[in-house]
Amino acid sequence: MNKKLVKIGPNRYCLPREGKMLVDAIVYLSSELLAIFDEPIALQQLADAACLPGLAGPPLGMPDIHQGFGLPIGGVMASDGENGVISAGAVGMDINCGVRLLASNLLAANITTRKLTSLLEAIEARIPAGVGKATKHREIKRELIERVFYEGAVEVVERGYGWPEDLEAIEEGGRLSGARPGVLSKEAWERSNQLATLGGGNHFIELGVVNEVYDPTLAEFFGLTQGRVTVMIHTGSRGLGHQICTDFTEIMVQAAPRYGIQLPTKGLAAVPIQSREGKDYFAAMACAVNFAFANRQLITHDIREAFEEVYKTDAGNLGLKVVYDIAHNIAKYELYDGKKLLVHRKGATRALPAGHPANPPSLKETGHPAIIPGSMGSSSYVVVGTAEAEETYYSVNHGAGRVLSRRAARKSISMDEFERSMGDIIYRARRPSRLLDEAPQAYKNIDQVVDTLASIGITRKVVKLAPLAVIKG
Ligand code: 5GP
Ligand code: MN
Ligand code: MN
Repeated sequence: MNKKLVKIGPNRYCLPREGKMLVDAIVYLSSELLAIFDEPIALQQLADAACLPGLAGPPLGMPDIHQGFGLPIGGVMASDGENGVISAGAVGMDINCGVRLLASNLLAANITTRKLTSLLEAIEARIPAGVGKATKHREIKRELIERVFYEGAVEVVERGYGWPEDLEAIEEGGRLSGARPGVLSKEAWERSNQLATLGGGNHFIELGVVNEVYDPTLAEFFGLTQGRVTVMIHTGSRGLGHQICTDFTEIMVQAAPRYGIQLPTKGLAAVPIQSREGKDYFAAMACAVNFAFANRQLITHDIREAFEEVYKTDAGNLGLKVVYDIAHNIAKYELYDGKKLLVHRKGATRALPAGHPANPPSLKETGHPAIIPGSMGSSSYVVVGTAEAEETYYSVNHGAGRVLSRRAARKSISMDEFERSMGDIIYRARRPSRLLDEAPQAYKNIDQVVDTLASIGITRKVVKLAPLAVIKG
């Protein structure tokens, strides 16, 4: 099935250039993952990406690689920042889908099941979950949303949703420049009423606990000491990002031939970065990136209020600081050896090492953390980047990655099996009938996936988190 893969180093496999590929492609897999690896379509998608002109190097597959729309999920594709292409499908449907982690000063050992349930209820009362749900914040109107397109989390923090120090703990400071709301379609504008909502399916809010510490110094610095309760938020730009991806895929498909680009697939629709369509896509994508940063910020605000209601004290007394907020579907201009590249990360997370100039000032000496969720019934990780990660454009996997499609999961996992695998973890879902889509059995073994890069020095583990209670979209 994976016969084309050629081993080129520890945990590194090459998909050699052939046919219309202009460069090789590279996949990161441990021997355990390779033994169960069965992703011919994802490999084909990576090979398709290698056919696009102007790439800065081989497209990369992270150890959580699986089939996506256009580029596989777990894909990293770097274009030459001047002469390369930009692709809507290499960013993905849910633009700036990402994960934010909060660290509290509460100890899990002191929280009863009753308290956890009260917290879930207070969170659910504030944050709509499920596909297509509109915001509960009546004050969120078009005027605010337009400001959010430009200013991201910065705008909502200025309006009182959060603390000024939250911003430094968000990738890009919570605001990507280059947004131009004028390029958004009417449909995209309409779907931007979903600010401050969680979304459906795979999106979640999870209360967890630090249950293993690998690097005590960094763990303490990030506020993640053993036994602490954490809150993880996984959501993105909701219907807005989806609409932008759909709109611009169409625009790019139409425009590509005019620029002499033969598209490998519709999903990998791409145009030159410097073209009008390319610049417009970046401007639209930046609106959605900022929308998603603001979305996770508003959700953080709502979660802090939920804790305040349950604990009858100021959120500040409970910690609830932002450890970090990271995008896993995004394209950004970044410098490598003084050269500007456009790095597309699609189901991949940036993790910068200590000393890298793009870290926020407070994280210069440690590197910024990356958050890697596992599944609703298994562990998640916090890691940091290393200097060796330059070969992946400082990228790591964004999760465990699926082994079963949603449909296959629903068909092959029984409710009994699912419940057994959840043990004492409390869970709630907007659509219980779809819980099996997201069962722990539908995902790879997160320990094996994280160790694939950690064991070759591309990332360093800081802590492992275990879920206590989870709200699924
Ligand atoms: P994606 O953005 O690709 O939908 O999901 C990212 C990753 O989150 C998945 O690959 C999976 O490993 C992880 N994940 C999915 N659901 C949950 C959950 O409920 N809790 C945690 N901790 N991780 C999850
Ligand atoms: Mn998403
Ligand atoms: Mn996601």
